[in-house]
Amino acid sequence: MSANHHYEVVVVGSGPAGLTAALYAARADLSPLVLEGLQPGGQLTITTDVENYPGFPDGIMGPELVDLMRQQAQRFGAECKFETVAAVNLSKRPFAVESDGTQYTCDSLIIATGASARLLGLESERLLMGHGVSACATCDGFFFRDKELVVVGGGDSAMEEGTYLTKFASKVTIVHRRDEFRASKIMLKRAQDNDKIDFATNATIAEILQADSELAVRGVLLRDTHTGQTREFSCDGVFVAIGHVPNSQLFKGALAMSEQGYILTNPDSTATAIPGVFACGDVQDAVYRQAVTAAGTGCMAAIEAERFLAH
Ligand code: NAP
Repeated sequence: MSANHHYEVVVVGSGPAGLTAALYAARADLSPLVLEGLQPGGQLTITTDVENYPGFPDGIMGPELVDLMRQQAQRFGAECKFETVAAVNLSKRPFAVESDGTQYTCDSLIIATGASARLLGLESERLLMGHGVSACATCDGFFFRDKELVVVGGGDSAMEEGTYLTKFASKVTIVHRRDEFRASKIMLKRAQDNDKIDFATNATIAEILQADSELAVRGVLLRDTHTGQTREFSCDGVFVAIGHVPNSQLFKGALAMSEQGYILTNPDSTATAIPGVFACGDVQDAVYRQAVTAAGTGCMAAIEAERFLAH
């Protein structure tokens, strides 16, 4: 293996956690390598206006925000590669990281692999994904001009996606399994005040219904959570916005995780049970899951990595 495949710090993931970790590690003269992963920039690249990231009083588009973070990290010497990690070996030192066929080694590893959209788990959802079913309004909303849509979920994502989709759709129905919402008041109110948005509460999607002659959606089968009764509901598309699952599969067996798959770290720290391995952002945070908190824990991870390496 050539010497230039060894780094003091490798960061896996490139959302706000990974890029902030890279910024701080770079400024500490550690010349980190960032392996950006399948979705460079992370979840911010599939969102629209970010209105709650401090420093941008008029809001900023998600993709622009991560571009700025990347540029800032690169300015101080972070090396960003559009590669996806396939395997890691944390049982020996230096740690080994295999990415797109290249073997890297590192003294310290910062895991910032984020989270991905959770799906309903229906066979019809799998079959129609990309054919009327989507988990990303900003990616696919454009295809539903003047169509009727269903958005599933009761959190901020569902409100945000539902509101965004009214730019294209003639009508959006938010289907939620309870009648209380996890969404923040401001985002819920914005959706409730939107004339194009209806709500179907205490309802789940029992099935997504396929059109007769083509791979497309013609509606959903809604199940009333109180009575168990089902009814057909016509729509042209279904957007699933029911939260996220942490991208921690790479580290199964190597690092301790919660039942939901969040990587466990020491209290008030990003340190895992393996000295030199740190986890930050949405792969480690089951509570806050905000861009700004991800950036905060990314900063912590880099400072902790720097201290670990100094010893
Ligand atoms: P979330 O807050 O976990 O909400 C997920 C929603 O989906 C919940 O209402 C949940 O119902 C429902 N759900 C989960 N599994 C389901 C299933 N199998 N079938 C039907 N419904 C299901 O996730 P999120 O909305 O993606 O938000 C995640 C985090 O990102 C939050 O901290 C949020 O504040 C943040 N976020 C912020 C913004 C913003 O500020 N611009 C935008 C998006 C997200 P129950 O309520 O019944 O559990």
